[in-house]
Amino acid sequence: MLLIDGKKTSEEIESEIALRVSEIKQEGGKTPHLAAILVGNDGASQTYVGAKVKSCEQVGFESTLVRLEENVSEEELLKVVADINENPAIDGLIVQLPLPKHISVEKVTNKIKPEKDVDGFTPANVGRMTLGWPAYVAATPYGIVELLKRYKIETSGKHCVVIGRSHIVGSPMSILMARNEYPGNCTVTLTHSRTQNLPEITKTADILIVAIGKPEFVTADMVKEGATVIDVGIHRIADASKKSGFKLIGDVKFDEVSEKASAITPVPGGVGPMTIASLLYNTLLAAEGKVYTK
Ligand code: NAD
Repeated sequence: MLLIDGKKTSEEIESEIALRVSEIKQEGGKTPHLAAILVGNDGASQTYVGAKVKSCEQVGFESTLVRLEENVSEEELLKVVADINENPAIDGLIVQLPLPKHISVEKVTNKIKPEKDVDGFTPANVGRMTLGWPAYVAATPYGIVELLKRYKIETSGKHCVVIGRSHIVGSPMSILMARNEYPGNCTVTLTHSRTQNLPEITKTADILIVAIGKPEFVTADMVKEGATVIDVGIHRIADASKKSGFKLIGDVKFDEVSEKASAITPVPGGVGPMTIASLLYNTLLAAEGKVYTK
C-alpha cells in the first residue's frame, strides 16, 4: 500500500515556490503579494488565515491581512474588495469564509477580480477550469490533482467515483478527473445525498474521492481491492490521550480501507496540508501573470 503523503508533498511544493520567489527577487522582479480579508473573530477562521499568512512569509511572499469587525456592512466589505482589486501591489486576494449571515458570499465572491481570485471561487475561474483554460483551480481540488500527479497514479480510462457535490470539492473534482489530460481521462461518477445504492457504485471505483463530511463513512466493504482512495474529510474527535484533547479523522475508515487500497491519503497529513501549498502556487501564478493570458 502506497501512503500518499500530503505533508511531505506540500513541503516540496512550498520549497519550489520559495526557490522561484528568490529567483524573481534576484531578477529584480516584484515580490508576490497575497491579501486576505478576515471578517469577525471566528476561532477556526483566525487559525486558517494565520496559517496562510505565516506560509506566505515562509516562501518569501508579502502578505496583507485586512481584519474587519463582525458587524461590517456588506457595502463596506465590497468597497475593501474593490480597493484591493485596483491595488497594483497586490497579486492575489482571498476572503476567508464563512462570512457573517448579513453578508452575501455570492456578491462578495463575484466582486473579486478574477485575475486576483487565487481561491478559484469566482464564476470566471470555475468557468475557465471547466473549459480547460488556464485558471486558478480551487485549493482542495488542485491539491488532489497535484498529489495524483506527483505520486504518478494512473488515471486514464479508470473509473473515478466522487462522493459529494460541493462547489469547493466534489463538483470541481468530477470535472478535473474527466478532463482530457493527466491526471484525468477518467470515466467519472459523481455521487451525492440522493444517490441510491452508493456502496454498489463505490465498489466499482478504481479511484475513490471522498468529500462527504461524515466521519469514517467509507468502510472497507465499500471499496474495491487495489483502489486509490483520496480522503478529503476532516473531523475533530475528542481524545483525552492527546495533549490537544482531540484527534483528527477523515471520511474514510483508514485502518480497514488501507488494507484494501493500493494507495491512500491519511488524515491528518493527506489532502489537508496541500490546501495552503495550492493557494501559494496560485498566488505565484497571479504574480507572474501566467493564468490570464487569454
Ligand atoms: P459539504 O457538506 O458541502 O458537501 C457534502 C456532500 O456530501 C454534499 O454534496 C452531499 O450531497 C454529499 N452527501 C451527503 N450525504 C451523502 C450520502 N449519504 N451519500 C452520498 N453523498 C452524500 O462538504 P465539503 O465542503 O465538500 O467538505 C467535505 C468534507 O471535506 C468535510 O469533512 C470538510 O471538512 C472537508 N474539507 C476538507 C478540506 C481540506 O483541505 N482537506 C477542504 C474542504 C473540505
